[in-house]
Amino acid sequence: MDRQPSTPILSDMAYRTMNETAPYLSVLLPVYNEVDNLRPLYEDLKAVLDTLHHPYEILLIDDGSQDGSVAEIRALAAENPAVKAIILRRNFGQTAAITAGLDHAQGQILILMDADRQNDPRDIPALIKPLAQGFDIVSGWRKNRQDPFLTSVLPSRIANWIIGKLTGVRIHDHGCTLKAYRRDILENVSLYGETHRFISIFGHWIGAKVTEIEVHHHPRTRGKSKYSIAKSFKVLLDLPLLILLGTYLTRPMHFFGKIGGGFSLLGFLCACSVLYEKWVDPLAKAHRNPILLLAVFFALMGVQILMIGLLAELITRVYHESQQKKTYFVAEKIGLEPKQTQP
Ligand code: UDP
Ligand code: MG
Repeated sequence: MDRQPSTPILSDMAYRTMNETAPYLSVLLPVYNEVDNLRPLYEDLKAVLDTLHHPYEILLIDDGSQDGSVAEIRALAAENPAVKAIILRRNFGQTAAITAGLDHAQGQILILMDADRQNDPRDIPALIKPLAQGFDIVSGWRKNRQDPFLTSVLPSRIANWIIGKLTGVRIHDHGCTLKAYRRDILENVSLYGETHRFISIFGHWIGAKVTEIEVHHHPRTRGKSKYSIAKSFKVLLDLPLLILLGTYLTRPMHFFGKIGGGFSLLGFLCACSVLYEKWVDPLAKAHRNPILLLAVFFALMGVQILMIGLLAELITRVYHESQQKKTYFVAEKIGLEPKQTQP
């Protein structure tokens, strides 16, 4: 995406005077049975992060590993106070692990990456550079992806193309976990199911400026991949939800209205054709015309979908009002005092 950025992030100096000790960078790593990858990954990461001269934390989120990863995480955390960890009670999935990490990370800049060493920590300096130029999300693009072509690379290319078309976020690699985010963007994003791949899209909806850079990608050398080809189908199943959430969350009737209206129109056309036949040939029997069935079917579908639209309108009101969710996101306030509350 080549939209021009407008708001610069805090300059390093400004940030340091505000808060000398809190981490500026948080690197979040979901871990599920990656025992052999953890120490080499930590060493690679530390080598890169130490060169950046920013306070940082490495936040490991153990997602129910059974292979000794937890013991390794404890050992790393004991060695270096910059290593912090969250141990989940069981395997909740990568998205839930990432959410747990986001809930606890303290940095102003959050970097997500896989813990299997397929992403390369050496990309981090280049990844955070566009944030200083005013972008809010920088996505990695694994141009030379080192995964099986038929089961991973090809389905992901097709999914990326469809997602780009549907959402308007035209980056090459939505599935690449290695991304950098400004903290305030992620504070307004909720993740469910396996939607961590869509964080850039959720960010785009609330006005984040998204860009991408090429990153390295390595074959997995230790441990096993946790996903199969079914992953791409799941991504496709999430797409209708993406469209509904992205464009129609505050006006679902426009979404369901179009579909319901289309069905009603089809029903009406079928009914007209039945009447026309009767008009041309007064002896024709309408109940012997199969199109009559179609007319009834389409009309019923149309009414049902319109009613679902009405229900969705009610649900979105409950969603926004019960959780006091805003239908807008503010980038900056100028000359406004914090609102006075009534005593
Ligand atoms: N992962 C996780 N929970 C899961 C599945 C995966 O925390 O239920 C982690 C895994 O340890 C790795 C990252 O998510 O750090 C990506 O997983 P994987 O490498 O298996 O995915 P692939 O690269 O094969 O798509
Ligand atoms: Mg991997």
